[in-house]
Amino acid sequence: MARIIAHLDMDAFFAAIEERDRPELAGRPVVVGADPRGGRGRGVVSTANYTARAYGIHSAQPIATAWRLSEEAAKAGKKKAVFLPVSMEKYSLVSAEVMKIVRNKVQIVEQTSVDEAYLDLSFTGSFENSERVMREIKAEIKKKERLTASVGIGPNKLIAKIASDLDKPDGLRVVRPKEAQGVLDPLAARVLPGVGPKSSARLSELGAQTIGDLRDVGLRRLTDLFGKAGLNMYEMSRGRDDSPVTEEREPKSVGEQETFDEDTLDSGFLTERMEKTAERVYERLKQQGFTRFKTVVVTVRFANFVTHTRSRSLKVPDSTVDALKFTALALFLPFLDKRENPHKNLIRLVGVRVENLS
Ligand SMILES: [Mg+2]
Repeated sequence: MARIIAHLDMDAFFAAIEERDRPELAGRPVVVGADPRGGRGRGVVSTANYTARAYGIHSAQPIATAWRLSEEAAKAGKKKAVFLPVSMEKYSLVSAEVMKIVRNKVQIVEQTSVDEAYLDLSFTGSFENSERVMREIKAEIKKKERLTASVGIGPNKLIAKIASDLDKPDGLRVVRPKEAQGVLDPLAARVLPGVGPKSSARLSELGAQTIGDLRDVGLRRLTDLFGKAGLNMYEMSRGRDDSPVTEEREPKSVGEQETFDEDTLDSGFLTERMEKTAERVYERLKQQGFTRFKTVVVTVRFANFVTHTRSRSLKVPDSTVDALKFTALALFLPFLDKRENPHKNLIRLVGVRVENLS
């Protein structure tokens, strides 16, 4: 039997939760992310609501740029954006409720992030039935969580994912196998997963802006240029994707990071922030229903953006916050002296992640 896959993607998830919980934000541009510090903040935007997106603000943008765009909009007589910190604990709880609704109706669900999941709907037997199931899920999310989701339904994960983006927000788009190529062809090649800015620039040089153009580039040419990724591009441009929806209940790792207001090598400050970051990771680990971790990963970014990661796997999985803090510090301390930092580079960012969770 042919496969039917849905991709569900919550709309402007973090910002939508804040708007829901703070009625005073109604109608205002909302930006969730790092502290903008009056335009001097150094982190990035996590999520912007649709009103803020109209100002050109978007996720992963430097928060200082978002601040500037908001100031410019204000000068033009529009409302200033409201900047809010990321409350990941809260969003994780809402995410768990949304996934509960999904899992109530669909057995095979692959959650790929806090607000996205693939659902295997092959069991429904038809696109019509799949659409009905997804309308029910959307309606229940709206009723119980007062949030909207966008859904794409297609014959595989690739097409489902692309379809979920077509009618955002609050969209539902069904792309049947015979329609798939017609939907893909006019889209920019860079909407394909794995086609980043570099690859899409090289494709442009070949005259391939759209997926349709990409289909005219031969397989040989693509593999010469991009290796195995070229083969993937060849397949994806034809709407082909065999990857299964794999039942994976939770993300495989939990991590947090912090960008400092000023680059620093103050060991007292850095060890304190490292411990705090480890504590935040531990909190999220518990919220996501895990009790043990086996691997601890520490990230250090220097002022010059050179980034190092160091990891250590414990002999047996541990479950205590002290073990997490101890291991994270053991990995981090060498960056404060000549063992890992002989040139005394200032540190811009630290991060802690746990992997191999159970
Ligand atoms: Mg989303």
